[in-house]
Amino acid sequence: MKYTKYTLSTVATIALLGTAVASTAVKAEPNDLLNATLWTQTSVEFKAASMASYKLAEVMLDRAIADKNWTAALEQGDNYQNKPTAVILDVDETVLDNSEYEAWLIKANTNYSSKTWGPYVDAAISKPIPGSKAFIDYAKSKGVEVFYVSNRKAPGEVGTRKNLANLGYYVNDKIDTVLLRGETKEWGREKSTRRAHVAKDFRILLLLGDNLGDFVDAKKATLADRNAILAKYSDNWSSKWITIANPMYGSWEGASFGYNWKASGEEKRQMKMEAMKYWEPKQ
Ligand SMILES: [Mg+2]
Repeated sequence: MKYTKYTLSTVATIALLGTAVASTAVKAEPNDLLNATLWTQTSVEFKAASMASYKLAEVMLDRAIADKNWTAALEQGDNYQNKPTAVILDVDETVLDNSEYEAWLIKANTNYSSKTWGPYVDAAISKPIPGSKAFIDYAKSKGVEVFYVSNRKAPGEVGTRKNLANLGYYVNDKIDTVLLRGETKEWGREKSTRRAHVAKDFRILLLLGDNLGDFVDAKKATLADRNAILAKYSDNWSSKWITIANPMYGSWEGASFGYNWKASGEEKRQMKMEAMKYWEPKQ
């Protein structure tokens, strides 16, 4: 009798577990975003690469502080040598990790939309990019001001500030250092006007970002244009301009299909295929 009861309860438990697994399992549809998101969210390689970028930034920060003629901003202008110092960081995929939003896009089999991105920003649940908080704390300890220049839209400022505060990031409460897109008429998608705004009062020591536009305006730049920009500023990369890897999205993707975001998924995939060079095995 006892044995029977045990068996029945075991069967019931297994059945319940089976139901739980079935209800939470995500159907694995083919999706171009899967590997990039998986790598960003789960790999130690991504974490280590981010930490390396931020460790390099600390080393460069010390050099930048010591050299009064050092500036990272093309917008710096003249007579900056004795201004107080600052660094400028992008937010998304530079300070905040939004891979859970990207993972949801895959799960829901849908594309980025401001209708879903807005509530995600307001929820203030992004995770920290590894190494970013330690770097920001280091900059603060050296008396360097920290500016966050993001293309999150102005209404997202409450959620963005809440998210940064919840994760313990330093944000100046005396001057506005969270500069979002559309806060003023001049602050559009291109970030040079916001870099110029910071440069008026600060010597900009470093720029940190995951996107070409975090360093230099490159609107509608072709793949060839982008490579020319890389070459033109070869001295800045990895010294004044520090990059964080983002394989999930960015202007690199738009450049591969001529920024034709309205094209269908199939058309975009076709243009991406055409953007690559191919090895051909010998017959
Ligand atoms: Mg970004």
